[in-house]
Amino acid sequence: MPIYEYKCNKCAKEFEVLVLGSRDDVRCPQCDAADVSRLMSGFAHKNEGGTLVSSSGGGCSSCSGGSCSTCH
Ligand SMILES: [Zn+2]
Repeated sequence: MPIYEYKCNKCAKEFEVLVLGSRDDVRCPQCDAADVSRLMSGFAHKNEGGTLVSSSGGGCSSCSGGSCSTCH
């Protein structure tokens, strides 16, 4: 199941939400604001602004995930 990372635009709290189905009415657990933005996280890592994701030993350029074990 996909876990999405959200950030509240009101209080800047970051939190993770387990999304069931296509439900997307996420609220901040801290201030209950519905004004939240979804961050990229989990299995769909993307490098934004050149920030390298090095969760498990770096990985090479042909690795799609964070692990080199699938391509070497
Ligand atoms: Zn909030």
